[in-house]
Amino acid sequence: MDIKECERCHSKFEPNVRLGESQRVCGQEVCRAWRIAQGQRQWRQSNPGYYESSEDRHREDYWKDYRRRHPAKTKRNRAQTRERMRRRRAMCATQDSIRRDPVGYLHGLRAGTMFATQDSITRCINGIILYLVAAPGRFATQDSMDGRIKTAG
Ligand SMILES: [Zn+2]
Repeated sequence: MDIKECERCHSKFEPNVRLGESQRVCGQEVCRAWRIAQGQRQWRQSNPGYYESSEDRHREDYWKDYRRRHPAKTKRNRAQTRERMRRRRAMCATQDSIRRDPVGYLHGLRAGTMFATQDSITRCINGIILYLVAAPGRFATQDSMDGRIKTAG
């Protein structure tokens, strides 16, 4: 390995085998620290505003300004949030209606899948629903639900 000159203290040094060409300072702690600091300075120069914006995010009006400066991103985010909330509400409504009327819910589910062409999944789902509805007092009747709640409490 060729002898190199340290960029900071200008002493001659033999580069570390693993670092080779990329090593620009000698092994002294002070020179290595200088090189790291220099690298960080260069990085900050090529990424202007990075640390500033990280502080800015905690400023009171930051997000208000951000939304004003990025209307497209803001619009997209709002649409996504709306969709998320809609799905969450729909899921809660579904769970509510199952709890209120499990048999009615299953009948509705079956009616809903019936007008699509009957692929194997649809037939399978219909079979399961029929079984759950038909099995007397075992699965989806209000009595069995109440019974479970009583024995649980
Ligand atoms: Zn040095």
